[in-house]
Parts: sequence; C-alpha cells; structure tokens
Amino acid sequence: MKILVINSGSSSIKYKLFDMPAQTLLASGMVEKIGEPEAHIKQEVFQGPDNAIAIVDKKLPVEDHRSGLDLIVKLLLDSKEGAVTSTSDIDAVGHRVVHGGDHFSQPVVVDDMIYSQLEALNYLAPLHNPANLLGIEVARKVFRRTKQVAVFDTAFHQSIPDYAFRFAIPNTYYKDHKLRVYGFHGLSHQYVSREASEYLRKPLDQFNAITIHLGNGCSMTAIKNGKSVDTSMGLTPMGGLMMGTRSGDIDPSVILFLSKKLNLSMEEIDKLLNKESGLKGLTGENDLRNILRRYEEKDPAAQLAIEIYVYRIKKYLGAYAAVLGHLDAIVFTAGVGENSTFIRERVCDNLDILGLRLDPTKNSVVGKVIQEIQADEREIKILVVPTNEELEIALQVLRLT
Ligand code: ADP
Repeated sequence: MKILVINSGSSSIKYKLFDMPAQTLLASGMVEKIGEPEAHIKQEVFQGPDNAIAIVDKKLPVEDHRSGLDLIVKLLLDSKEGAVTSTSDIDAVGHRVVHGGDHFSQPVVVDDMIYSQLEALNYLAPLHNPANLLGIEVARKVFRRTKQVAVFDTAFHQSIPDYAFRFAIPNTYYKDHKLRVYGFHGLSHQYVSREASEYLRKPLDQFNAITIHLGNGCSMTAIKNGKSVDTSMGLTPMGGLMMGTRSGDIDPSVILFLSKKLNLSMEEIDKLLNKESGLKGLTGENDLRNILRRYEEKDPAAQLAIEIYVYRIKKYLGAYAAVLGHLDAIVFTAGVGENSTFIRERVCDNLDILGLRLDPTKNSVVGKVIQEIQADEREIKILVVPTNEELEIALQVLRLT
C-alpha cells in the first residue's frame, strides 16, 4: 500500500511517499517559497535506504498551493524521474494537521463534514491550520478517489488529565472558548516513545518516559504507561521550553507590560514572542550550531542563551520526574536532541538526584539509529531516538485505513 504524506505550510509543501507496511521510503520532496518569483522544487526517489536513484532540484515560479501540488503529482508520475505510474497507485494521503482541538484524538478520514469541523478550529492555530487545510483542499481535488486522512499533532496529548490541561482562570474561558493546554509535536513524542519502549523491550502500556524534542521548536512530554500525561507546550506551540525564536514560558504580566507601558500592539507582541525571542532574541540568531560555536569562543550572549536553554530543560525534567514517580527512560530527539552531544551532556550533568548519568563515550556517538548513552549500571536509560514524524503519519493512516 502506497501512502503519500503531505505537510502543507503557509509557503511550502513537503511530502514523502511510503510503501507500507514495509515502511519503505519511495520518494521525498518539497516545494518551497510558493507565491514568490522563484520557488524551490526538490524531489528524491529512492531504491533502498539512502540510495537516491533520481534527483530533481530546480527553481521555477509556483503561483499557489494548487499549482504546487499539481507539480508534485507531475514529478511523482514522471516516467523517468518519478516513483509511481498513476495517481491511482497512491492508496491514501495523510495530512499533518497541527491543531485538532479537543475534538480529534485520533486520525480521521476527511469528508465535507470533517473538513468544516477542521475549519472551525482555525482560530486555535491561525499560523498553521489554514495552511494545513489548504493542502487537504487541493489534495481532495487532485486525488479525487483517494482517501484523505488528517493526522493531528495534538492528538497524542488528548490523554492529559484535566488538572494538567486546565488553566487556573475562570471556567467560562475553557467552557466557551476552549482555552486549555493542547500540546504539540505529538507525532514525534508518540513515535519516539513507542520506538524507545520497543528498543527496551518494555510493553508500551507499562512504559514511563520523558521525551525531549529539541528542534527549532522544542517541547517535552511526560509519558506514563505509554500515554502523554503532561507536555510543555500549551494552547499554542509558544509555551514551555525556550526555542529557536519562541520565548517559551513567560510570566503573563510581561505581555501586559509590553502592551500597557510600551504600547506594543497585540500583533507586535505576537511577533516578538513567536519570531524574535528564544535563542534569536538572546543571541541574534536561531541556529544552535552557530550559537554553540560562539559559546566555545566565550561569547557572553551565546553563553547565557545556552545556560537558559539547558536550565529550562532541566527544570522540566525535575517536574516530570515528580509527576511520573517512576521513570524507565529519558529520550532525546529532533535536530538538537539527536545531534548535539554537548547539549545532551549539559542537560544530564549533575542529575544523580533523578538517577541519570551519561556515559561520555557513548554520548559522543551520533548516528541515525537508536543509541543508549547512560552509564552502564544505570537503571534509568538515556536514549537518543531519531524522530520520524512523516513515518508516524503513514503508520497512523495505515492503521485507520
Ligand atoms: P525543525 O523543528 O524545523 O524540524 P530540526 O529538528 O531539524 O528542526 O532541528 C533544527 C535545529 O537543530 C537547528 O537549531 C539546528 O541548529 C539544530 N542542529 C542540527 N544539527 C545540530 C548539531 N550537530 N549540533 C547542534 N544543533 C544542531
């Protein structure tokens, strides 16, 4: 069964084609800078892991998402450089949808009614959901007979209990406006926690872990008996850890100050906290590799940013260890979590109180497979698990269809 996974953003469409249940990646690609004078189009078709047999990489104007998806279909069907011979070879399309509100705790086949229910959630994620829905809308037109499945980044966190997801503000804001913690990166937390439990041969329904997703966006999840019981992002992906450009947790009165005393508009505050804060706000840039280079050169701004970054992760580790009571593993994943030996070392430094200690030699290994990096005698495992959100979408689509 061939499943196409689509991640449609405001100016890009990324995609992967899998043969399932074998989990074989057949093709992957993207169309970036949609609507700009020159869009970037890239596709790789694979025969075996990492063996690209055809690569397309070019720039040309792509007016809108409809043209973008038409182009993707054309590339996938290309007789020389494509991966399938007809659109009917694709059995289902899985779409990443960032926000599923509290209505969707499972993936769902999109029909007209579901589509309107999804549209009604746009107000909860105005930066992400409209672009995700646009992808679904055009895919429904392009693949007329193929099932379109929406898979949600929030769904995994629907098991969080009310005392963890409710804000301590008057009930009406929850009842009438659905203001609560939803949590994000659910596909990643779900994927790496299941991979970790399988690796450790511990049944998922008895597996307790803290998963640490450190990419441009960063979040942590407390997992009890295989289910999410708390997570660091909140109503939107702005809460929790410090990130590439987002502030993470902040005293709400800072927003009042910015508005009342500095006369910033709500749009300006939104931009400030979403796009100009975090690592970027403290150092002027958000690529952690550069900041680590500056850290080594003893740049004070980079040093402080790294201290804050690590400190916040440690605080959540302590909090979630207390929430879980018993811990089988902590799991590092995503760009920083998988690749930065230094950040992992700093996070785990002096954490004997939680039963955690790294083995520096094991930690120095970076690879594309699961690594166990705790000191040998430790009961609590420290794992590096490469995330694969697209594969998680394909797996969920497979299960549903
Ligand atoms: P996204 O959230 O966009 O999917 P990724 O998971 O790809 O992001 O992570 C991007 C982040 O990972 C960037 O900040 C990048 O600097 C960081 N990163 C990638 N490789 C390394 C590395 N070797 N050391 C430190 N940071 C890294």
